[in-house]
Amino acid sequence: MSNVILPGSTLGMLGSGQLGRMFAIAARRMGYRVHVFSPDKDSPTGQIADQEFVADYEELDAVREFANTVSVVSFEFENVPAITSQAAGEIVPVRPGGHVLHITQNRNREKSTLNEAGIPVTPFAPVHTVADLYQAVESLKTPGVLKTAGGGYDGKGQRIVESPSDALAMWDELGRQEANYEAFIEFQGECSLVAARGVGGEFKAYPLFENEHTNHILDVTMCPARVPQQVRDDAEQIARAIFEILDVVGVLCVEFFWTKDNQLLVNELAPRPHNSGHLTVDAHLTCQFEQQVRAICGLPLGSVRQHQPAAMVNLLGDLWEGGEPDWKSLCEHQTSKLHLYGKHEARVGRKMGHVTTLENDIETARTNALIARESL
Ligand code: AMP
Repeated sequence: MSNVILPGSTLGMLGSGQLGRMFAIAARRMGYRVHVFSPDKDSPTGQIADQEFVADYEELDAVREFANTVSVVSFEFENVPAITSQAAGEIVPVRPGGHVLHITQNRNREKSTLNEAGIPVTPFAPVHTVADLYQAVESLKTPGVLKTAGGGYDGKGQRIVESPSDALAMWDELGRQEANYEAFIEFQGECSLVAARGVGGEFKAYPLFENEHTNHILDVTMCPARVPQQVRDDAEQIARAIFEILDVVGVLCVEFFWTKDNQLLVNELAPRPHNSGHLTVDAHLTCQFEQQVRAICGLPLGSVRQHQPAAMVNLLGDLWEGGEPDWKSLCEHQTSKLHLYGKHEARVGRKMGHVTTLENDIETARTNALIARESL
């Protein structure tokens, strides 16, 4: 176990949003130091980290300077430029590795890799030309969803194509970038599975999460998911296979559509902790961020045992429209836990924080989480 990175060492984080922040909280609690690198100053992660390196991701000398101060580097968003992770990787391990970033940065690469390995994915076709687009619409029919291959999140870079005659206009709206056309799935629900894999291949999955989206943004997550046991087992088996295929060391989230005939289709991968896993901070023995620390440091993974059924609701910038939300009222809800990310500016649709509510059953947890948020 000579390659274990022990508490007292310094961990490097590329990206400085809420995921990095919660990673830094978990790491510091365990006695690690944390250095963060991003273009932003006084960022959500920087407020918690020991040292904040502020430079563009393409400033490779600055990236190397940062990497020289840490024992391992991880990231909190998958759009870190390949050259950045490469530059860091010449100095210290980057976990998950650059190959995982490369695949997950592009929807076509991601879906093709999974499809070729026999993993069930949403039926899709890559779109590079107008001819590709028409062929995709003809074979997969409408309605469908046209998504930019790179850079999209929370529904950004996506258009629903209602009829074949709309397709070109929708692609024009996306700037005719490389895209991915998908069949529209009339799903029963959306689920996600967060898991971790250690340096030696040890694998641990959280119980399946059930997700509700509003305007393409995650709104509510529940654990346990209200789905048949077979679906949970399938999700874990699919996720385990994906971790092996991609040789992931670290945390990764698999987002699924749960179809009306109880099949799971992979929608997308996030090679890092995920918004749907935030409830693990309060509801599980080891949260997804501590699991990320353990996995990238070569430590044994922690137990994923759940204390109580839990529901998480996101707090978006919209809540600030009438002034500062009423935090005191929220704190009167004794089974609800408030998390704020330290962002200076509240904008519509921006994730500012979340609330997790623990109760004896999942329906009550969901109801009370929504009531707690209403009180704001
Ligand atoms: P994504 O950015 O791909 O995760 O998409 C955001 C959300 O849009 C998903 O969580 C779904 O609610 C919806 N969505 C995306 N793709 C599809 C699809 N092929 N069929 C139905 N809904 C979709």
